Amino acid sequence: MVDLRSQYAHIKAEIDAGIQEVIDSAAFIKGPKVKSFQEHLEAYTGAKHVIPVGNGTDALQIALMGLGLKPGDEVITPTFTFIATAEVVALLGLTPVVVDVNWETMNMDVEAVRRAITPRTKAIVPVHLFGQCADMEALMALAEEHQLYVVEDACQAIGARYTFSNGETKQAGTIGHIGCTSFFPSKNLGCYGDGGAIFTNDDTLADRMQAIANHGCHVRYHHDEVGVNSRLDSIQAAILDAKLPHLDAYTAARQRAAAYYDKAFANNEKLLIPGRDPHSTHVFHQYTLRVVGADRDQVREGLAERGIPAMIYYPVPLHQQKAYLDPRYKDGDFPVAERLAACVLSLPMHTELDEEQLAFITSSVLELINI
Ligand SMILES: *Cc1c(COP(=O)(O)O)cnc(C)c1O
Repeated sequence: MVDLRSQYAHIKAEIDAGIQEVIDSAAFIKGPKVKSFQEHLEAYTGAKHVIPVGNGTDALQIALMGLGLKPGDEVITPTFTFIATAEVVALLGLTPVVVDVNWETMNMDVEAVRRAITPRTKAIVPVHLFGQCADMEALMALAEEHQLYVVEDACQAIGARYTFSNGETKQAGTIGHIGCTSFFPSKNLGCYGDGGAIFTNDDTLADRMQAIANHGCHVRYHHDEVGVNSRLDSIQAAILDAKLPHLDAYTAARQRAAAYYDKAFANNEKLLIPGRDPHSTHVFHQYTLRVVGADRDQVREGLAERGIPAMIYYPVPLHQQKAYLDPRYKDGDFPVAERLAACVLSLPMHTELDEEQLAFITSSVLELINI
């Protein structure tokens, strides 16, 4: 699905120098590399504050803690996403309220969000699934109307750009009150271990979340509230600082691979290519087909036999996950998400795919859907 080894080979000198610098300085925690990466990421995203943390899940948790939500407060998330989005809501004693998604973009359905709002709703967590922004203009308007916070789960969408109807453009993660991203190795900007970051333009929220990520203290050994320990370590920061200048080229490589897939699969009655939101660029964390006229699992097995990995993101929506079963929801309540879970198939997607590999993957898929 990804080829991190080949990607590293191209930037080995930069990465190795960065890691060596950290070892020589012995500043493994909160070293200058973390500060440098933070500043470079602020410049890249346009976010006023970037708070580096231990991983994307922590970023989401610290964001919700920073908003000061209370047990019983409702947080709306899409039911078709990675579990972390709802996990942190549940862990904090907040109530996850799930909504269906759009069949084309696979992102949160704004009208479903509107219907899910109650007097206890405090926040909306849109997920920019597979690398394309959710319908942020409509979500921000809805949030303002109901005085809700918006925390973007931009773990899959770093570098995606959203254009508002007035022509203004913002990066994924910098549109809501808070944005969260992950530097898990296979993410679009991946480190060589765990890492994550929080974005915000709000000084007060930034100050509070910074403290929460550091055991709840502003002043060392003085703890103002219960926090966590979540840090991006200096070696990971050095790797990310070396990779950030390449992110746009990496995105372009993913988009070229996606264009190849699109061309091969367009106008096929058995496969639907990923639907596009005209307001957002797509950075293709995943290239996800909907297999509508063939047996998805057989296609996947056939690909595996040819040595082509393909994955199902995600096979079970949140409302059908054992740990999240809730008497408020039953099978059939979120028909689009349930249909997607049964038909999605993500193809190999990374920065190193060449024509030969793409030709082999696409011809294999086209053969297999006709068996
Ligand atoms: C990867 C991911 C996360 C969690 O990131 P980690 O760094 O693995 O904790 C959260 N949400 C989504 C949508 C993700 O893809």
